[in-house]
Amino acid sequence: MTLAYDPDNIFAKILRGAIPCVKVWEDDKTFAFMDVMPRADGHVLVISKAPGRNIFDLAPDALSDLILCVQKIARAVKAGTGADGVTIHQFNEPAGGQSVFHMHFHVIPRWEGVPLRP
Ligand code: ADP
Repeated sequence: MTLAYDPDNIFAKILRGAIPCVKVWEDDKTFAFMDVMPRADGHVLVISKAPGRNIFDLAPDALSDLILCVQKIARAVKAGTGADGVTIHQFNEPAGGQSVFHMHFHVIPRWEGVPLRP
């Protein structure tokens, strides 16, 4: 069963401007901002402006727009931080590691031999 999207989740509030964030990208379909508890310096979250809880219910067009934005942000994060690589995480439902129920990707810069912070 697909669970309902909650329009009062933290990222929806960020999109509405009700909670502050450090914005790094916005267009009519997507939005990106710095993670408040970064796993590495330069950790960015990329979200769709469309309401979707996670991979199970986000509309196909919104998912297409989102992954293209993730590619753009990954290139920018790598170039901007001088990282050796980038890790992309995406979690679905509590059992899958998700804690904020608005579809998002983590874009995390990585350096050779440097582990992620817990
Ligand atoms: P997890 O918490 O296991 O990483 P998620 O994929 O749902 O699961 O990630 C939610 C992310 O949102 C976390 O990395 C957390 O640090 C981040 N976060 C929570 N609240 C805010 C906020 N107000 N501004 C920016 N990032 C936030």
